[in-house]
Amino acid sequence: MSEQNLLTEIEQFLHWYKSVYGTSVLLQHDFSEVQAALKEVDEPVVQRKKPVAQKTTAIKYQQTSPELQELYLKIKDCQACELHKTRKNLVFGYGNAHAKIVFVGEAPGKEEDLQGIPFVGAAGKLLDKMFKAIGLNRDDVYIANVLKCRPPGNRNPLPAEVQKCEPYLKEQLRIIKPKLIVALGLYAGQSLLKKQETLTRMRGTVHRYEDIDVIVTYHPAALLRNPMWKAYAWEDFKTIRQFLRQWETENA
Ligand code: URA
Repeated sequence: MSEQNLLTEIEQFLHWYKSVYGTSVLLQHDFSEVQAALKEVDEPVVQRKKPVAQKTTAIKYQQTSPELQELYLKIKDCQACELHKTRKNLVFGYGNAHAKIVFVGEAPGKEEDLQGIPFVGAAGKLLDKMFKAIGLNRDDVYIANVLKCRPPGNRNPLPAEVQKCEPYLKEQLRIIKPKLIVALGLYAGQSLLKKQETLTRMRGTVHRYEDIDVIVTYHPAALLRNPMWKAYAWEDFKTIRQFLRQWETENA
């Protein structure tokens, strides 16, 4: 790579970093705990004997409650924005209709678009490992996205697309009634909280979406690009674990 290209790449990275995380810089952290808990996370993504996607494909059109199924049937041919022209599948959501926690991502990527299931690509595999690190799996939770259709080339969602798609997520949350929403990444955080804050500012605080607690953490794709942030994501996942334990104690 030429010196000029390298400089351009560094400059673009710093712009991206600043837009997503503000001006704070992560300098050091004790990684031992997260390394122990997420020891599988740094392994290269390998094909499992039975990938989650294969397990779930058969039921992708079958939602886990009649109300979710009804909503799915209502929106599956949605043409409210231009994304319907390029999508292969509308990616409605996956998981337990009675989940205490709903994880909300940004929008389907290529693999999700092909399979019609959220978080089945590389970021999803990391998310599965993070669930496992706190004793969960994807059938314990519900996973959805702000946008139900893939933006071409995985570009950022447009405000008009978010606005059109938002009522669907709102309806999913009304049906599931989770106790906690975990926004994965900047877009999910900003669109749920209706704030234009950086991720750094939204992290570490319990927010509210209507009457539901919300925490904002890193998007797993960001963690794949920046493994040093996994330590901070682990702090958030410990908060999620603590939340669940407390809820279970109070409702035992
Ligand atoms: N990234 C997301 O935000 N959602 C997905 O479903 C996959 C990748």
